[in-house]
Amino acid sequence: MSHQNLETLDAEAIREEFPILQREFDGQQVVYLDNAATTQTPEPVIDAMSDYYREYNANVHRGIHHLSQEASIAYEEAHDRVAEFIGAAGREEVIFTKNTTEAENLVAYSWGLNELGPGDEVVLTEMEHHASLVTWQQIGKRTGADVKYIRIDEDGRLDMDHARELITDDTAMLSAVHVSNTLGTVNPVSELVDIAHDHDALAFIDGAQAVPNRPVDVEAIDADFYAFSGHKMAGPTGIGALYGKQHLLEAMQPYLYGGGMIRKVTFEDSTWDDLPWKFEPGTPQIAEAVGLVAAIDWLEDIGMERIRTHEEEIARYAYERLEAEDDVEIYGPEPGPDRGGLVGFNLEGVHAHDLASIMNDHAVAIRAGDHCTQPLHDKLGVSASARASFYVYNTREEVDKLIAALDDARELFA
Ligand code: PLP
Repeated sequence: MSHQNLETLDAEAIREEFPILQREFDGQQVVYLDNAATTQTPEPVIDAMSDYYREYNANVHRGIHHLSQEASIAYEEAHDRVAEFIGAAGREEVIFTKNTTEAENLVAYSWGLNELGPGDEVVLTEMEHHASLVTWQQIGKRTGADVKYIRIDEDGRLDMDHARELITDDTAMLSAVHVSNTLGTVNPVSELVDIAHDHDALAFIDGAQAVPNRPVDVEAIDADFYAFSGHKMAGPTGIGALYGKQHLLEAMQPYLYGGGMIRKVTFEDSTWDDLPWKFEPGTPQIAEAVGLVAAIDWLEDIGMERIRTHEEEIARYAYERLEAEDDVEIYGPEPGPDRGGLVGFNLEGVHAHDLASIMNDHAVAIRAGDHCTQPLHDKLGVSASARASFYVYNTREEVDKLIAALDDARELFA
């Protein structure tokens, strides 16, 4: 199906491409509002992976036979497609990882362990996901580098004055989330990167919640590293990508070793293959790379700008409906260009887990918990929050179902 001829995004038509969205529980069609955790998969992506297994499944690294040749080409070219999608110069700058978390760890181990030491500082934000927060915290402990956090203000935005204060010539790395998975805040990442570069620090941007739903150009942002996951963008689980500037990746040592990443091995020593293979040892995620390409094709056919607009509109609607309820507390900024497509909230007197369970009785899938941002929840003064997160196939009617289910939760728990 082509989406190009549609003036605005037609979520109802798009839903038809998702078999899972047709599922019913107790006679109620599933309302899937857990997209910040994982998005659903459209038929073209499922078909692309199925075709791979039916037609050209083989190990890569250019075996002599036809099947390996085809699989190798598909896998290698997947790097080109991802590079093009995020505005990287070429495949040398795109390393496939398991997910965003592994991309963070790759930089932390390969660069951080070798480059950081006492006196160095790593600056994060208070809204970092554990993927970066825990990783840099541990690297800090092992290297003696200090980890500092840019404050958020009362509206859930970064305090940029504090950012300018905290990032100094002692800063070696800034790691910031592009869009917060808890607050929905869209951070001014180019500005943050500029501040880091003014102090000769590197900048890592966690794009797990940005690449799926808005145009992202890593060169325009000027990030040194940028990471995201396939399973949050209509693609498969098991694959993510790390973008890195070529000269930085070239200077870095791999932290995973094995076959497929070497040039020459003797009993005494080894040398590494070219980028990106140097960082991709062992049999990689071939079917997943094929699926990721299909997801990118599918998203681009709809248009990233239209996806952003749709998500913003649904999130605005959800925000306004929730805000109209006196006993609901919402986290993060008001709707606008610096709020992404999710709404975190709590219903007074009802634990977020109980709320999610009541929602589930209505086949409404939301997430409850700390969303891998425990320190941020501490700061918000709550142990957990509920989160409704939207994607290209969600509709206003689905938000209405979420709102309707709140009454049940009040009756049972409040
Ligand atoms: N960063 C952010 C902002 C996220 O929302 C997530 C996942 O929820 C991650 C990192 C980790 O992604 P993954 O579990 O795919 O590694």
